[in-house]
Amino acid sequence: MLRRTKILATLGPATDDPKVIDELIGAGVDVVRLNLSHGTHEDHQRRAEIVRDRARASGRQVGVLLDLQGPKIRIGKFKEGSINLSEGDSFILDTDCGLDDGDQERVGLTYGNLINDVNRGDTLILADGAIVLWIDEVSGGRIHCKVVVGGVLSNNKGINKQGGGLSAPALTDKDRADIKFAASIEADYLAVSFVQTADDVNEARQLLREAGGRGGIVSKVERAEALECIEDIISASEAIMIARGDLGVEIGDAELPAVQKRLIKQARSMNRVAVTATQMMESMIENPIPTRAEVFDVANAVLDGTDAVMLSAETAAGKYPVKTVEAMDRICREAEKQRKVRKSHHRLNSVFGLTDEAIAMAAMYTANHLGVAAIAALTESGSTPKWMSRISSGIPIYALTPHVSTRRKVTLFRGVYPISFDVTGYDSQKANGEIIDELLRRSAVRDGDLVVITKGDLNGVEGGTNVMKILKVGEHTLPSND
Ligand code: PGA
Ligand code: MN
Repeated sequence: MLRRTKILATLGPATDDPKVIDELIGAGVDVVRLNLSHGTHEDHQRRAEIVRDRARASGRQVGVLLDLQGPKIRIGKFKEGSINLSEGDSFILDTDCGLDDGDQERVGLTYGNLINDVNRGDTLILADGAIVLWIDEVSGGRIHCKVVVGGVLSNNKGINKQGGGLSAPALTDKDRADIKFAASIEADYLAVSFVQTADDVNEARQLLREAGGRGGIVSKVERAEALECIEDIISASEAIMIARGDLGVEIGDAELPAVQKRLIKQARSMNRVAVTATQMMESMIENPIPTRAEVFDVANAVLDGTDAVMLSAETAAGKYPVKTVEAMDRICREAEKQRKVRKSHHRLNSVFGLTDEAIAMAAMYTANHLGVAAIAALTESGSTPKWMSRISSGIPIYALTPHVSTRRKVTLFRGVYPISFDVTGYDSQKANGEIIDELLRRSAVRDGDLVVITKGDLNGVEGGTNVMKILKVGEHTLPSND
């Protein structure tokens, strides 16, 4: 059985050996993430090249997602590297303090405007929740705080404001330069951090297109404000990422499970893709096996209907990157056997706007109810298999396309598997025969199986899908008019 839920793994120092990349691909990584919060363009370019090279060598397709750093606010560095804060201590975030000059009393800030976004009584969360500061007074470029939760605070740690309300725009100057880089390496997806409104998404896409990039935009949902206009954000994006790290700090960790379920459902119902991210296998940074809680977290995201589950430091900087992917793979497969993820009432009552969308829906309804072995969608842009994969099903959806960019894009879609296929010049009967022969070669079907094929009249036309054909393997070479 093929795994339907896709695995998105962040690359980093722990995956720099091409042998590790081979093992990651072998273990089932579908998409890699290049995190521009760390490393140089050269690092990321080299990683993208190695991945594509090794994927080609093993006959696989692996997507590349480039993740922008965004306006993550950080403290500066400490002269000693780190300090130790105790509950009740006074501590100052000081815009006048040099970025390398932090000490036990104060530290610098990468975003001076933070001063205008905070007031007495606000709570700041540092280092993903490890340190909590209560703001006592804001004056003269200084934020005077009392330590509520203490501990070790080291260089360059991130700052979030509880409840949201930070003014930093989503795209920084660094992000703008990084978008050009994304276009230059032909990233299949561009993830935009700290999206606040649909305008942020549209601006990122426009900049990417201007730079010649064709990738899809993934909006990272990690700000409290984003939830207030989430429908517009989803609608403006190809995919969303439930970025549980920063989001959990802004809205409170206890709200995360309900928000994750709601966002995945909403994205799917709007024909968009959902990625669930952060700390899914956190303990495997250090350990060769996951905790029971992590097993449940990954399985629950699968049951929620996520397209992909993401790994961050687990693969980028962990001790067991390959074992982590293997564990995730095994957990996803078991969860996918649940009946719940194979039944769907999705959009049964909705009106379809497009012919190809209607064909995609009809194909899934038929496939799920007739009991077919495989669905084969001839596709230019990947839209048809995406619509199909919004419907829960246990049936594999093969996206057959001559375009490498489409094959890479569908690597993120749940239950969709890319196949390089060109029917230019074939008549309809020959195309049907070739499709089934290809599925037979891949052992995706056997004699006597039913296959649903969707296609259009003309090759090379986007949005042209207008035919659904049901064929029986073994009888597929008989004459046919469509
Ligand atoms: P990050 O985003 O890893 O880039 O911070 C994910 C998250 O915030 O969960
Ligand atoms: Mn984040």
